[in-house]
Amino acid sequence: MATAVKSDIKLEPSPNPFEVAQQQLDEAAELLELDSAIHHLLRWPMRELHVTLPVRMDDGSTKIYHGFRVQYNDARGPTKGGIRFHPDETIDTVRALAAWMTWKTAVVDIPLGGAKGGVICNPKELSDGELERLSRAYIRQVGRILGLKKDIPAPDVYTTPQIMAWMADEYAFMKGHNEFGVITGKPLALGGSAGRGDATARGGLYCLREAGKLLDIKLDGATTAIQGYGNAGSFAHKLGVELLGLTVVAVSDSRGGIYNKGGLEYDAVFAHKQKTGSVVEFPGSEPITNEALLELDVTISIPAALESVITERNANKISAKFLVELANGPTTPEADKILYEAGCYVIPDFLCNAGGVTVSYFEMVQNSYNYYWTEQLVHERLDEKMTSAFHVVHDTAQEHKVHNRLAAYLVAVSKVAEAVKLRGWVS
Ligand code: NAD
Repeated sequence: MATAVKSDIKLEPSPNPFEVAQQQLDEAAELLELDSAIHHLLRWPMRELHVTLPVRMDDGSTKIYHGFRVQYNDARGPTKGGIRFHPDETIDTVRALAAWMTWKTAVVDIPLGGAKGGVICNPKELSDGELERLSRAYIRQVGRILGLKKDIPAPDVYTTPQIMAWMADEYAFMKGHNEFGVITGKPLALGGSAGRGDATARGGLYCLREAGKLLDIKLDGATTAIQGYGNAGSFAHKLGVELLGLTVVAVSDSRGGIYNKGGLEYDAVFAHKQKTGSVVEFPGSEPITNEALLELDVTISIPAALESVITERNANKISAKFLVELANGPTTPEADKILYEAGCYVIPDFLCNAGGVTVSYFEMVQNSYNYYWTEQLVHERLDEKMTSAFHVVHDTAQEHKVHNRLAAYLVAVSKVAEAVKLRGWVS
C-alpha cells in the first residue's frame, strides 16, 4: 500500500541568499552604469538542472533525494563550482553560490565561469556505502551537462576528496575513459593537486597578510575567532598560526564553540574534533555559542561556515578590525553598510575564499598536461594570484570610496560584462 510522502524540498531560507546576491549585483550595476540587458542577464543563471535521485539504502529500502546543478554564466570560460551536501540546501542557495563563483573566477582572473551544485541530504546520517551510492547517483544524472570544456565540479560543505574520487570514477565509467580534469579537489592518487587541501584558507590568509601591511596592524599574536571547523575553518586555524602567528582564541562547528583567552592549540583541537566529531568540550576551554563567537572582542573574525550569519541584527556588535570571509555569503548587504561605517576591514567572500577555485584551476591545468607541480610552486602561484587580486580590489575601493565587497563586484562584473559584450550576446 502506498504511504503518504512528505516533501523534503526545503522552503527558501531567510534572508534568501539569491536575493542577497542579486541585491549586491544591482548596487554594482548602478555604479558601473551597466547596460540594462547585461544587468538583467547577469541577475539570473543561464542554465539549471533539477534532479531526483533514487538511492538504495543499507536496510534494502530506496530513498529519493533531490539535487541541483546551476551553471550561472560561462561567458569567460567553462563553469566551475563545488557540490554541497546539506539538509537545508535549496535551489536559491545554489543559485547564489553559482553567482558568487562567477564573480570569484573573474576577480582572481582565471579563465572560467561560475556554477554550483547541491543535494538535499544529511551526510552525517548516511553510511559510507549510502554516501557513495548517492554521490554516484548525482553524477549519473548531472554528468550529462559536465565536461572539461563545459562545467567542472569540486568539493564544498560536507563533500570531501573521497566523494570527488567516487564522482570522478562514476564519470569515467560514463565516458569510457578517465577524465580527471572534470572534477577537482580529488585525492592526490587520482590526479589531485598538491596544495588543494588548504588552498581556501591559505588564499584568505595571504589577503589578510596584505591587509595587515596596508593598515599597519601587527598580526603576530592578534586574537582571532573562527566560525566553522571544516576544510576552510580548521586550515585557517593551522595556517593562521603557522604563516601569520595569529592567536586563535575561539573556534566552533555546527554543535557549538569553544573559547580560551590564552589561545587554542591547533593540533590538540583538531585531534579532539577527529576523535569526538566536534570541537565542543575541548579540555581546558569554555563553551561559547556560534552567535557569541562572532561578537567576541578580537582583532580578526573568520566566518568559515554558512551564509547570512552577519546581518543588521548583529553587525553593530562586531568589534573585529578584520572580517576574513572564508565562508560564502556570511554578510548581508545591510550588515555590510554597518561594518563599513564602523571601520571594520572586510575581505569579502568571493575574493577571500578564491584560493580554493584557484588551486582547483591549477589542478585542471595539471590534469590536462598530465604533469604535476610541487607544493611549493602551487603556493607561489596561489600567492601571486591572491595578492594581485587583493590589491586590485583594495585600490578600487579607495578610488570609488566604497566598501571592499562593492569594489570586488566592480572588478568582477566589469570583466564578465566585457566578455558578454565581446561575444555579442548583448549588443
Ligand atoms: P566543511 O564541510 O569542510 O566544513 C563546514 C564546517 O562548518 C563544519 O565544521 C561544520 O560543523 C560547520 N558548520 C555547519 N553548520 C554550522 C553552523 N550553523 N554554525 C557553525 N558551524 C557550522 O565545509 P568547507 O568546505 O570548510 O566550507 C565552509 C565554507 O567555506 C562554506 O561557506 C563554503 O562554501 C566555503 N568555501 C569552501 C571552499 C573549499 O574549498 N572547501 C572554497 C570556497 C568557499
